Amino acid sequence: MKGMLRRCASCGTYTLRENDCPVCGGQVRIPHPAKFSPQDRFSRFRIALKEKEGSCG
Ligand SMILES: [Zn+2]
Repeated sequence: MKGMLRRCASCGTYTLRENDCPVCGGQVRIPHPAKFSPQDRFSRFRIALKEKEGSCG
């Protein structure tokens, strides 16, 4: 798609480049809401930690 605006995952700069950020060279992503949320990632991480604690003892 032409004119797709992307956002750097590292510094948050908006760019039309597809490969890397023109400012810091970081990875750029389309700033659309993804299927998964960052909160979900954290909750999964916390569940993993909980299981670790539970198995100890
Ligand atoms: Zn950047």
